[in-house]
Amino acid sequence: MPLWGIQKPPKKLIFYHNFWRVLDTIFPPHCAGCGTLGDRWCTDCASGIRKINTYTCPYCKRPIKDKHHCDGIKSLDFLRAFAYYAPPISIAVQQLKYQRNIGMAEILAFYLLELYNTNKIDVDMVIPIPLSEKRHKSRGYNQVSLLARPFALAIRRPIYNQALTRIRDTRSQVGLNRQERSSNVTGAFTANPTIVAGKTILLIDDVLTTGATMEASAHALKIAGARGIMGLTLAQAIQTSNGYSDQLINTASETNY
Ligand SMILES: [Zn+2]
Ligand SMILES: [Zn+2]
Repeated sequence: MPLWGIQKPPKKLIFYHNFWRVLDTIFPPHCAGCGTLGDRWCTDCASGIRKINTYTCPYCKRPIKDKHHCDGIKSLDFLRAFAYYAPPISIAVQQLKYQRNIGMAEILAFYLLELYNTNKIDVDMVIPIPLSEKRHKSRGYNQVSLLARPFALAIRRPIYNQALTRIRDTRSQVGLNRQERSSNVTGAFTANPTIVAGKTILLIDDVLTTGATMEASAHALKIAGARGIMGLTLAQAIQTSNGYSDQLINTASETNY
């Protein structure tokens, strides 16, 4: 049975997918985007996603063609986001992050797969951006790992949740400006050289704002000897005169990252 356009999907991925489908028939879900009863993610919301076609650097705002280096993005060889962080996808991300709607991870992971396939990149392993231990404990899960796992299964690459760790408990990036975001996460990560040395890494995150978290993570991987670092995120925040869309839309009760 083809799944996600993959002719012979890995068994684990089929299991993962069917697990949620079975649950959905027992407890019909509400759409994570619009709340309509019936589907976890309805066709209206799926078609309402604003995909990014012309990609701009989250830091310097210049268009990115292939390789891109600027003051804010130094350690990454490649960086892309699937969609603009706006409804309905922003609502779905918030549901996954703050409302324990973990079934959305497998649906949103498909968009990462689409982004990966469109850009025809190849990597040795997948590493999700980690939460701090404290935040992981209070939330109970890392939503980025949940996104990255089915994605890694689909591209048949190993996922390493322990290769990169947050060594410093950083405050939420929401509400900080570009400089504050950068100094908030600089030196916050460390990577395990025995896993990453000589490898091409694909970093996964949910929302890209200024790229500060991605850059700090990539920098740690580089220090640990990674050969190449690429980054994919589900969504990219839109900058407005009032700030970034991740803080404007963030009406969820939890304000910590
Ligand atoms: Zn919907
Ligand atoms: Zn740039």
